[in-house]
Amino acid sequence: MPDRLDETSAIARTTPSGGAGGAAHRPYDEALLALAHRRAADWLDGLAERPIPPRATVDEVGDALGRDLPEHGEPAAEVIERLAERIEPGLMAMGSPRFFGWVIGGTQPVALAADWLVSTWDQNNGLRNVTPGTAAVEEIAAAWVLELLGLPTESEVGFATGATTAQFACLAAARDEVLRRAGWDVARDGLAGGPRVRLVVGAERHGTIDLAGRYLGLGTPIEAAADEQGRIRPEVLREVLAAGEGPAIVCLQAGNIHSGAFDPFAEACRVAHEAGAWVHVDGAFGLWAAASPRLRPLTEGLADADSWSTDAHKTLNVPYDCGIAMVRDGAAMRHALTLHASYLQATTEGADPHEKVAELSRRARGVPTWAVLRHLGREGVADLIDRLAGSARIIAEGVARLPGVSVLNEVAFTQVCIALEDDAATQALSARLLLDGEVLAMTSRWHDRAVVRFSVSNWGTDAAQTRRTVAAVERALAEVRAAG
Ligand SMILES: *Cc1c(COP(=O)(O)O)cnc(C)c1O
Repeated sequence: MPDRLDETSAIARTTPSGGAGGAAHRPYDEALLALAHRRAADWLDGLAERPIPPRATVDEVGDALGRDLPEHGEPAAEVIERLAERIEPGLMAMGSPRFFGWVIGGTQPVALAADWLVSTWDQNNGLRNVTPGTAAVEEIAAAWVLELLGLPTESEVGFATGATTAQFACLAAARDEVLRRAGWDVARDGLAGGPRVRLVVGAERHGTIDLAGRYLGLGTPIEAAADEQGRIRPEVLREVLAAGEGPAIVCLQAGNIHSGAFDPFAEACRVAHEAGAWVHVDGAFGLWAAASPRLRPLTEGLADADSWSTDAHKTLNVPYDCGIAMVRDGAAMRHALTLHASYLQATTEGADPHEKVAELSRRARGVPTWAVLRHLGREGVADLIDRLAGSARIIAEGVARLPGVSVLNEVAFTQVCIALEDDAATQALSARLLLDGEVLAMTSRWHDRAVVRFSVSNWGTDAAQTRRTVAAVERALAEVRAAG
């Protein structure tokens, strides 16, 4: 341990608890926490049965909360009561087992409990020797995630706010490293005047890849065509890479948001590596297929890539927010992301948490991930993933039997895209579902067609919930037909 930390510890040992003669500092209020606990339980108790969409708009909630800054403040209990009471109509029941919007997970009880402790401990988790407790928990969680996903154990792992920022961290490492190999030091000289880095993506990559490209000064990605399920076509990737020259980063995808499809990793990685490119995999929700023996074949060749990003707040069902960035070449990651400052008590062994994400100060957001993995174990994680994919299949089979409904994707994982005979009818179905409130699915466009998309991402979506889901779609469909 560094000397400076020893000094801090010495201070801790010689300071009497309670301070020097003043009134005891009590950093919490039992009744207030009990109030918050009760309000939390009320919310969770109602989650599975309340209508899923919010009833109030932002303006209505703002009016109800009151907009004037109070001159003298108000008692803490009143603040919490006001918050819980007045926000309620504006809350979306995202944790409902029939919430299938975007790709949004619920919260497992063990993850919520762990998250409360994270807030209570209030550790600034940027430096491992300063907060050894939470650093140890995150390091164990990181090793478990690599093991479950079958990724190289030497990879560095950072806990970011989501897949967007995890992806940014990985692509920052990628950009700096491919430029370094081309003889250009971007940390010292910036991007201007250096070789152009080509960011090559499948036509159906997630939009956050483009965002990372913008953050990193790489410009708009170059597209390689995808097949009918949205998978990148390796022979097209080969052509695209051969058409240009210089450093390149190829982004592949585990889990297309419409079809759930997985890129052919083994072949695409081979093609990309032959061209000297770095390969990143965006697996915000799909990476977890690798943790299920049954679904793992979908991810064949995944470990051939150079970096991977995923979310714990989607498939793993920890509360917002937690994304995970993993980079095989840990030195490349640290070169890109480490902050050099004399006042930091940097670790001398291993990497500090802040060297693996874009944040310096941050909450110990890897702790709920540890709690879920410890609670479920390898088998429980596989069961969770299988249940999500199995429920998607049951919903797809159920709605496919309804007259006029087409399931547009091969349901290989957690995503189901359906459509009626034309866009107007599909949009009407979506509107009826929203009005009904029992199920929330998203309207989207896929292959130039309006679709209603179900992303099965909640740990509570079991057989009974899939039956209610199909029944709700049947009800909404009957209303669409009745309205002509
Ligand atoms: C959700 C998602 C992202 C972005 O993740 P955030 O957690 O919202 O930052 C990126 N890629 C894919 C495929 C996604 O589904």
